[in-house]
Amino acid sequence: ELEPLPLMTLDFLQILNEVCEQCYCDFAPDDVEVKVREHILQDFETFLRCQVPGAKLVLFGSSKNGFGFKQSDLDICMTLEDQDTAEGLDSMAVIESLAKALRKHHSLRNILPITTAKVPIVKFYHTKTGLEGDISLYNTLALHNTQLLASYAAIDARVKILCYVMKVFAKVCDIGDASRGSLSSYAYTLMVLYFLQQRSPPVIPVLQEMYVGEKKPVVLVDGWDVHFFSDLKNLHKYWPGYKKNKESVGQLWFGLLQFYTETFDFKETVVCIRRKEPLTTFKKQWTSKHLAIEDPFDLSHNLGAGLSRRMASFILKAFINARRVFGAPVRDFPPEYPNKMEYF
Ligand code: ATP
Ligand code: MG
Repeated sequence: ELEPLPLMTLDFLQILNEVCEQCYCDFAPDDVEVKVREHILQDFETFLRCQVPGAKLVLFGSSKNGFGFKQSDLDICMTLEDQDTAEGLDSMAVIESLAKALRKHHSLRNILPITTAKVPIVKFYHTKTGLEGDISLYNTLALHNTQLLASYAAIDARVKILCYVMKVFAKVCDIGDASRGSLSSYAYTLMVLYFLQQRSPPVIPVLQEMYVGEKKPVVLVDGWDVHFFSDLKNLHKYWPGYKKNKESVGQLWFGLLQFYTETFDFKETVVCIRRKEPLTTFKKQWTSKHLAIEDPFDLSHNLGAGLSRRMASFILKAFINARRVFGAPVRDFPPEYPNKMEYF
């Protein structure tokens, strides 16, 4: 049962807004940190090409989608120059030889090939920066969803800030690690975007439903349609909702917590950012799942599929607590607020 909340005061909304904006300022990497990532990538590629001829590396994930933290991992995708797809490629063998090559790199430690996962990867630790990372092969859809997320981030500064707040929230509550049975950062980002699309008036459009001309273009990658409207300079011409929503980030954050605790029905509805019209768990045949989050491109992929009942309820409880905590002014702050970096 949700407890009733006192009315929001303007003063409190102002503070909430500042807290949200501070989150972004505290955790977003600066220009130098962004350049360091590009530099590491270049260095790896040069190094690898001596041992794996034709190796090409690209960064994706939060190093590129606009929601990166100073300490976010390096997500790297490797392809081979003369090969367009992974077809006919012995992924396991390539991963093993990649691991062998990386072991010779002087600033890498803890090289660990993982060949049992859905997407085989090599994990590593970069000693000079203290960053962790992994290299996957032909992770093409991930490159496209990175671009999609980056486009949403570029539409409105509030998108970026809210996604940071959500990620900090997930980390602080320890509900943001898919490898330990909860949800990935990516899943939480999709939840934020979905909320912003469903808000009235919406903060962002559904880019995958927008197109110029008569017919919606279809661009197939690994059998899935990856088309989305990317001409953001002209968004105002094609999206009637452009700049209609004027809420503050603080209002939206509280709105998000209310949405996922009071309005959204996890049993009935799928978190789905590729269309505006609600999608039911029934239609997807995902009714047995506790929390359904559809990947925007790989429509067979439910990001909540791995959640146990216990974990799903733990996550929901974190949202319910947050609604209570962010929904009313606190009387006393704890005497010593823990150093925020201790959480990471
Ligand atoms: P963080 O800052 O926490 O590293 P991130 O956005 O990089 O955030 P990761 O979990 O490192 O998140 O994932 C990197 C990328 O891999 C995502 O941006 C997404 O493209 C892809 N990805 C991650 N998890 C999934 C998943 N469960 N299904 C499909 N793609 C995923
Ligand atoms: Mg990452």
